[in-house]
Amino acid sequence: MKSDTRRTKSGNRAWTCGYSTVVVHLVANQVIGVRFPLPAQMKSQPTDEYLRKQLKTPDWYVRLKDFLEITVFPLNPTKEELKIRKEFYKLVSEMLENNEIPLADKSSENPDFDQEREKIDTIVIHHTKEKPDVSLTVLSAIGLVRQYANAYLGDNTWGRDKLRPQPIWSSHFDDNNKMVFYAYHWLIMPSGTSQRLLKDRYIGRHSGIQSVNARSVAIAFSGDYTDSSPTDKQLKETARIIRTHYDEAITIVGHQDVRPDRDCPGKFWPEWKLKLINLSHFGSVDKN
Ligand SMILES: [Zn+2]
Repeated sequence: MKSDTRRTKSGNRAWTCGYSTVVVHLVANQVIGVRFPLPAQMKSQPTDEYLRKQLKTPDWYVRLKDFLEITVFPLNPTKEELKIRKEFYKLVSEMLENNEIPLADKSSENPDFDQEREKIDTIVIHHTKEKPDVSLTVLSAIGLVRQYANAYLGDNTWGRDKLRPQPIWSSHFDDNNKMVFYAYHWLIMPSGTSQRLLKDRYIGRHSGIQSVNARSVAIAFSGDYTDSSPTDKQLKETARIIRTHYDEAITIVGHQDVRPDRDCPGKFWPEWKLKLINLSHFGSVDKN
């Protein structure tokens, strides 16, 4: 495989020995299907210093390809991988905040990733699966890594090719004209407050299916609702947003309804879905 050569080069140069060797070794063998055991220096995670150095280059996601594909992208991470990726998101968010990660220049020719935007007829509900008070910069960093770096690595994505190894461009900007990488349009806090993340004319990269993303708006409940339900305040605020901003015929689905291989937004979704639909379409919703 092509990636083996690159892996050996980068591995010899920069990967250091550490803990978590067994897990990473097993996962690495599974993912890239190598026939021989990996050399010792490639069995552990890259150091913070190494990651920081790579993140300062425009093609950081190509340089970190193995780390991303083995430790960051897989759907069901081990506890150890989860810990490593959370630290990585934190590092990326700090560097994003300080403008240390080179992004595409506005003045150059960049792809319009929203040209496939269609009329919005669906709302997809998610949970962030992060702490409820997760910062917006961390959410943007997660999007940059999980959606955009992944797409750019894939090279031919969202109707575009020759993305790799260009610096990343999202086509999405916040009110301060800062490039953002959010997957969702709205974020709903447990206290019942909400935040607009993406304008509706932007396609959010939230469901993993381009045709669904093209015609939907994503509302994310801030927090991890794998084994619990959102608060009533969250449900009421979500219903208020739906009634205020969207057509009353809009269809409300959960991420797991369009992607049965995902558990988002948690195992009790079938129960609180009915509550949310009732509140959104028929309920009287106050603003408190
Ligand atoms: Zn989701």
